[in-house]
Amino acid sequence: MRKRLIVSAAGAAALLLAVPAAAAPAGAGTPGIGDPYYPTYGNGGYDVSHYDIRLTYQPATDRLEGTTTILATATQDLTRFNLDFALDVSQVLVNGRPAAHAATGEQELEITPAVPLAKGAAATVVVRYAGTPSKVSRYGFTAWLRTPDGGIAAGEPESAWWWFPGNDHPADKATFDVSVQVPDGTQAISNGTLVSQTSRLGWTRYNWRQNKPQATYLATLALGRFEISTDTTPGGLPVLNAYSKDLGDNAGAARASVQRTGEVLDWLSGYFGPYPFGSAGGYVPNVTTGYALETQGRVFYSPRQFAAGSNTSVVVHELAHQWYGDSVSLQRWSDIWLNEGFARYAQWLWSEHENEGTAQEITDYVYALHPAGDTFWNVKPGDPGPERQFDAAVYDRGALTIQALRNTVGEEAFFRILKEWPAEHRYGNATITQFQEFAERVSGKPLGDLLNTWLYTAGRPAAGPAAPPAGGATFAAAARPSADAVPEPRSWKQIRATDGVHDHAERHPAGSRP
Ligand SMILES: [Zn+2]
Repeated sequence: MRKRLIVSAAGAAALLLAVPAAAAPAGAGTPGIGDPYYPTYGNGGYDVSHYDIRLTYQPATDRLEGTTTILATATQDLTRFNLDFALDVSQVLVNGRPAAHAATGEQELEITPAVPLAKGAAATVVVRYAGTPSKVSRYGFTAWLRTPDGGIAAGEPESAWWWFPGNDHPADKATFDVSVQVPDGTQAISNGTLVSQTSRLGWTRYNWRQNKPQATYLATLALGRFEISTDTTPGGLPVLNAYSKDLGDNAGAARASVQRTGEVLDWLSGYFGPYPFGSAGGYVPNVTTGYALETQGRVFYSPRQFAAGSNTSVVVHELAHQWYGDSVSLQRWSDIWLNEGFARYAQWLWSEHENEGTAQEITDYVYALHPAGDTFWNVKPGDPGPERQFDAAVYDRGALTIQALRNTVGEEAFFRILKEWPAEHRYGNATITQFQEFAERVSGKPLGDLLNTWLYTAGRPAAGPAAPPAGGATFAAAARPSADAVPEPRSWKQIRATDGVHDHAERHPAGSRP
């Protein structure tokens, strides 16, 4: 029955409108955290501080069994509350007492504790469950990536529902312990530090710990046959990378890129300040997808990112997110520019560092590449809408915005903003409005008109972000180079190759979003 509830955008809207009025009794937490892009994602009424996820996985069958223990605090009196989850639940306990539970909507797990929770009360929620994630579809797709030797959870905004129940929205960050038992010979990789690994009776258990707050979509799980590489950077940061044993011709280029993680982090630290986490690294599983994702402290890369050879630019992009996106997370999904604009701009800085085109040269090229009337300019990076959240324009126009900011506030203030913003909101959440206020405070310049033009107004701004000439006047639009006159920066193809990050949108048939 409930599978047919969401048959169209109109049907979904009617359902959402109906929930608070008809279905939510007094004291029930809302089934969404209040994000207009994804009304049912996350939940209201509580705040999670820690996830303890304990799993057993069989790669031959993709069978996943688990118990997740959630430490939360009620933010209102609660007779009932929701988690987001898609696997089959056999038992729920709240503060040690069995709780009634029901699967509703697409990914709602509705929990009624035996004893209501008072505002401010601590809750320990235990959920036992099992399923075959690759066979579980929600909104017409599965985010679980089945591989010949296992499975992968890495997707934005959705991926958690297929392996742990939670408050699935970046506004509620928490620490994580992930413990996974797999048959000997299979590896289980997750975020943070590998605390311990033990083998017994043909099974190996891997215990991972993420001790810094982490958004649920940045939690990742990789199950399969990997070669693990460990190292320590000159600054003492442990780095753990993992490569599927089945990468074929991409194996060399993947290693030649991801093994430079420590070097790239050192370089990024010069712009963004100290690396915010206690460990770093990436993994390249044998998936057929094309995207990469900034999963916290352990980046997910599709082998296709390296199909044309090594690509350090994608490594720069995903590692830049560790500051812009992971440590400082968006408050609402409409704040996506704070993630993608800055990660893309880091690639432009890397291009400059590699002598393959300066940020200003790439700016001139991108502006010229898209003439007035190009649909590229229809996307507003400051509020692209859920369907265009990962549109190339969010990345490229987003980075143009940052170059426009740089040219407006000047080099000194700009690089102070880049470095001090991640410190200002470390391990927290922030909005574009807060960024504007911060940049205005640091630079002493009003930025409302600039950001309104570049982030919130459809259409091509009359002039590209031009470097101010020595005299201080700005270029007139007529003085800008014509499209034909701007040469392609040498780094352009590598930067474009990163746009494989957008292909996860293909999983979502048009109109299937809530
Ligand atoms: Zn990105």
